Amino acid sequence: MPTNNHIIRYLTPPLLDHDNISTHVLCHRPTRSKMPAMNVSCIDKQVIVNNYGHAGFGWIMAPGATQYVLAQMKTLLPSNCKTLPITIIGGGIMGLTAAYQLTQQGFTNITIVAKETDDLTSHKAVGFFSPSIELGKSWMTPDIEDIIHSSYAFYSQIITGKHTNFATSSAQFLPMYIPKQRKSAIAASGHPVTPVTLDFGTGASHDMVEQHGGIIVHVNLMMQQLHAFLHKSGVLFVAETITDLNHITTPILINCAGLGARELMHDDGVVPMQGHLVHLTDQPAAALKYLIMMDCEKAFTGTGFQVKRSLYWAPRRYTLNDVSLNGIIGVTSIKGADASTPHLEEFARVIERTRQFFLGII
Ligand SMILES: Cc1cc2nc3c(=O)[nH]c(=O)nc-3n(C[C@H](O)[C@H](O)[C@H](O)COP(=O)(O)OP(=O)(O)OC[C@H]3O[C@@H](n4cnc5c(N)ncnc54)[C@H](O)[C@@H]3O)c2cc1C
Repeated sequence: MPTNNHIIRYLTPPLLDHDNISTHVLCHRPTRSKMPAMNVSCIDKQVIVNNYGHAGFGWIMAPGATQYVLAQMKTLLPSNCKTLPITIIGGGIMGLTAAYQLTQQGFTNITIVAKETDDLTSHKAVGFFSPSIELGKSWMTPDIEDIIHSSYAFYSQIITGKHTNFATSSAQFLPMYIPKQRKSAIAASGHPVTPVTLDFGTGASHDMVEQHGGIIVHVNLMMQQLHAFLHKSGVLFVAETITDLNHITTPILINCAGLGARELMHDDGVVPMQGHLVHLTDQPAAALKYLIMMDCEKAFTGTGFQVKRSLYWAPRRYTLNDVSLNGIIGVTSIKGADASTPHLEEFARVIERTRQFFLGII
């Protein structure tokens, strides 16, 4: 029972009726064992930059990770390098961010080569940015901490109107509710936290921690704006699948192929991490003012894959097939599962889990 001075947040739950349930989203995080590949080398006078394998943190890392690899790249280039032809493989958030930062730095001869540019993992992601995100021990180096801080600053600048190439509505600060077990990790991030009880007025209540400074990035809006900006800036887009890096002969090659890097780089460390999300429609404005992120259980799927089931709730700003979406729930993490093992039964579990959390029913 809450004590007298314990804070209770009375929150409006999302609407989870049949009519509010929209598209089921199956997508695959480009996960690389231990660490993403973020390195630069020079082979036969060609500068090669790798920036792939950011798992479930691609949006969190893109601005900072790109800054990190491009700074290394510039140390290998002559001072008059701005007109050198550059090929970027990949049109996801990593590839587009590379092109964006290069144009901002005055590079003028950029081509993005991508197998596909629509409906990518980058468009499907939730877009959470928890400042205390737990990336796993092997990831947490000082460089990665700097990368996360740079990214956080980038999205914060967008929200506060200091980065005028993007609409301020592309991302939002929202209170983020996280399990209280993570209180010390959150406090270590330097962002204020408050223990609270969430009361949804449905009979369901949960003791959690409120983290200030959570961000939701509206990923589709960001992708649209990046495309528009890059087209306007003269960046060329070529629809092509690269089968051999040797076919790219430009002096600078930036590899942002996500899961495609597994074949392209013969990098067996890159594996898909399957995720299930569900879009919602017609959510009341009051339900769009907070984020929920908590892990629920680890289990095995019927086909023997290990699955981590989490509960995510976030607003969404996107129109898909003329349907206006404004909420998203999820999510699973199923290592090694790809489109050939879609685990479609997980969608019903996502909905069931979310109803149970918010409404106290199954
Ligand atoms: C369910 C789910 C939820 C997520 N939620 C979040 C979140 O809340 N916050 C967060 O930060 N991240 C999240 N992510 C992770 C994030 O979506 C990814 O890390 C990010 O989108 C990866 O971007 P990318 O550009 O590397 O890859 P992609 O978006 O997959 O793009 C890869 C590009 O490379 C191209 N390509 C690949 N191979 C080749 C080839 N051989 N030749 C030419 N082109 C090629 C593809 O066509 C594509 O254009 C989530 C992911 C999932 C699945």
